[in-house]
Amino acid sequence: MTSQKTSPIATVAFVTMGCAKNEVDSDHMATRLAANGYEIEEDPESADAVVVNTCSFIQAATEESIEAILEVADFDSVASGRAKLIVAGCMPARYGDALAEELPEVSSFVACGAEKDIVATLDDLFGIERLVGSGTELVTGLTAGRVSAYVKISDGCDRFCAYCTIPYIRGRYHSYALDDIRLEVERVVSEGAHEIVLIAQDTGRWGADFEEPSNLAALLANLAEDWPDVWFRVMYIQPEGVTDELIDTVSTHENICNYFDIPFQHANQRILKSMNRKGSSDEYRALIDRIRARIPNATLRTTLIAGYPGETEEDFEELCDFVEESELDYIGVFAYSREEGTRAYSLEGQLDDDEKASRAQTLRDLADAVCAPRIQARIGTSMDVLVCGCEEDGQLYGRAMCQAPDVDGVTYIPYGKPGDIVTVTISDVLLYEMEGSVEP
Ligand code: SF4
Repeated sequence: MTSQKTSPIATVAFVTMGCAKNEVDSDHMATRLAANGYEIEEDPESADAVVVNTCSFIQAATEESIEAILEVADFDSVASGRAKLIVAGCMPARYGDALAEELPEVSSFVACGAEKDIVATLDDLFGIERLVGSGTELVTGLTAGRVSAYVKISDGCDRFCAYCTIPYIRGRYHSYALDDIRLEVERVVSEGAHEIVLIAQDTGRWGADFEEPSNLAALLANLAEDWPDVWFRVMYIQPEGVTDELIDTVSTHENICNYFDIPFQHANQRILKSMNRKGSSDEYRALIDRIRARIPNATLRTTLIAGYPGETEEDFEELCDFVEESELDYIGVFAYSREEGTRAYSLEGQLDDDEKASRAQTLRDLADAVCAPRIQARIGTSMDVLVCGCEEDGQLYGRAMCQAPDVDGVTYIPYGKPGDIVTVTISDVLLYEMEGSVEP
C-alpha cells in the first residue's frame, strides 16, 4: 500500500508566554492539531493561524502577553485577514468575555483547561466539518529530539494563597491519572527525552484526590523503576508535600535527581499566615535540615516574595536572615504583585512599587551572595552531565542533576552528543554556570 501525502488544512504557529506548564499545554495543543490535519509551523509570520498561549498570573505577565498578542496582530498576514489569531491560556480564563471586547483583532479564544477544544476552534475558523468523533486524539512526535521534557501531573490548585490568581484561573486541584502520566512519559521518552521534569502548581499533593489516595513518592518510584535510564526531577513541591517517604524515595533511586524545589515564599510566620500559607522560618529550617540529614548533597531551590502587604522592616530582615542561614542553592525572588481578585489585593499596608522593587533587589543580591559560594564549592567535584546541545558559538552544554532546566544555568562540557550522560570534573564556575573538564 502506498501512502499519499495530503496537504495540511492550514499551518499553525505557537507563541508561548509564561512558565513550563504553558509550554506543556502548547505542546499538547500542537500535538492535537498535527494529529488532525494541521501542520505546525515554526515561523509565526508565515503561518495561517497563530496561537498566542498567554500567561496572566501577575500583572507584568499579562502585560507581556498583551504585547505579544498585539505584535502578532500587526503581522501583515494577520492584519490583512489572511491569517487567524487565536488567544489561549490564562488570559481568557482570567478575563473572560471582557477580553473579546478589548481585543477585536482576535479571531477566537481558548481558555486554559479547554485546550482539547483547539482542533474544533481551528476547524470552525477554517470551515472544516468533521463527522462527530472523527477527530484523532493524541499523539505525534512534536517533542522529538528534546533531551528534557516537562510532564504535567496535575492542574489547578486548592491552596488559595492570598496573593495568587492561579486557583481562579486554573480551577480546583485535580491529579492526572497514573496511567495517563505513564503514557505521556512513554511518549516523550520514545521521542528522545532522557530527563522528565514533573510539574504542576502543587506537585506534592499528587494523588491525594484519588478515590484510593496515592502520593508523589509512589508516583516517582513507579516511574523511576520502570524507566531506569531516564532522570526524573520534580518542581514546585509545596513545603507540606515534602514527606519523609518522598525524601526516602529520592534518596534510594539513583535516577531521581537529588533536587528539591520548595517555594517557601516568605519566612516570617505572620506574613505567611496572611498569605494563607503554613510555616515559619524555624519550621522551614527544620525541613531543610531533615532533607540534608538524609541526602547531604541535595540541591535546594526556593522562590520568595518581597514587599508583601504589611511586611515591616523587621519582617523583611527576618526573611533576609533566613536566606543567609538556610544554605539554599538557588533562590528566585519576586516583588509582590498586587492582583485584582485576590485577597491580598485589599489588605492594608500595601508598599509602594519603589519599596517593593528595592526590597526584591536587596534580596536578590543577598541570594547571589549566599548561593554563589555554594556553586563555587562544586569545583573539583565529579558530576554526571546530561548533554543538551550546542550554543550558537558551537560550545557544547548540558546540565547536571543539580541544575533544573530553564532556571539554574548549564554546564559547559568538552565532548558528548545530545542525550549522552558524560562524567566531568567541575573545573570552573561563573556565578550559576559551570564548566566541566575531563581528567587527562
Ligand atoms: S500553592 Fe502556588 S498555585 Fe496554589 S495558590 Fe499558592 S502560590 Fe498559587
